[in-house]
Amino acid sequence: MILPGRCGDKLQNVRAQNCVLACYNGMIPYLCPELPGKQREALSYLVKAPLIYTHVAISKWTSFHKLGIHQIVSPGSYHCYTALDFPVSLGEYRFASNPEEPMVLFMLRTPCKPGLPARDQHRVGRAQLMTTSFTTFERNIREQLGTMLGSAGFDPARDIEGITVNRWAHGYAYSPNPLFDPEWKEEDKPWVVGRQPFGRITIANSDAAAEAETDAAIDEAHRAVHEILQESSIRDGASAQEKPYSAAFCKSLIP
Ligand SMILES: Cc1cc2nc3c(=O)[nH]c(=O)nc-3n(C[C@H](O)[C@H](O)[C@H](O)COP(=O)(O)OP(=O)(O)OC[C@H]3O[C@@H](n4cnc5c(N)ncnc54)[C@H](O)[C@@H]3O)c2cc1C
Repeated sequence: MILPGRCGDKLQNVRAQNCVLACYNGMIPYLCPELPGKQREALSYLVKAPLIYTHVAISKWTSFHKLGIHQIVSPGSYHCYTALDFPVSLGEYRFASNPEEPMVLFMLRTPCKPGLPARDQHRVGRAQLMTTSFTTFERNIREQLGTMLGSAGFDPARDIEGITVNRWAHGYAYSPNPLFDPEWKEEDKPWVVGRQPFGRITIANSDAAAEAETDAAIDEAHRAVHEILQESSIRDGASAQEKPYSAAFCKSLIP
């Protein structure tokens, strides 16, 4: 099997016996159009959710102290969540325990379009994320922080030192939502249909679990590698009962 890949600026071909596709599952039908139609359709169902992580450096956090809060949940606002940085001290670094000290605020925006089905909301949100200028973000951040914290003395013009906006167009893996998705049988779930091995290709990524967190991605990687080992052992005539993880067996897989 020859796989095109990128190494620095150069495109290269890599020869391998097997391949784990651990990328965004929705791309796999484009990378491997030979897949059965039902599997391509299932993979395309897994529309990742866009996410925006904003950080705002402020010169002091006395307004939070005065209000007696460390986080604000504000559904419907431009950013739906705002929080003081985690109070972590590491080595010589000490977190800002004094409200007169500078602080970094974390703000979360999940761009979406209420009223549409969840997967369409993700698509519309992604388009928003790609087309919104930094100026628009900054204006909304200044207005929102001023509205939420102004009564406690926060002045955006005086207190904001810097803003970074990180945009993940394909952020969290799609997770089923009972408001929009049918109640599939286990074997009909799109991420189960989508992650089936295809010849020497197996499929990982958190999409394959329909769960966003890293532990799901690790579990899926483990499954995908295990499937390769099984496929290889059957292909090479070894009995399925043989220990597939033995060093000699793994070495035998290297071309
Ligand atoms: C903003 C954000 C915050 C998160 N916070 C947390 C958290 O606090 N805790 C937690 O557990 N999880 C968190 N997650 C989720 C976590 O990042 C994922 O679960 C994890 O990264 C998934 O790992 P993965 O290997 O499945 O996919 P990814 O990490 O997405 O890796 C896929 C890789 O495939 C590459 N790729 C894509 N297409 C191709 C191609 N055609 N050819 C070659 N390479 C390709 C991509 O560049 C990427 O490097 C967060 C995710 C986001 C977006």
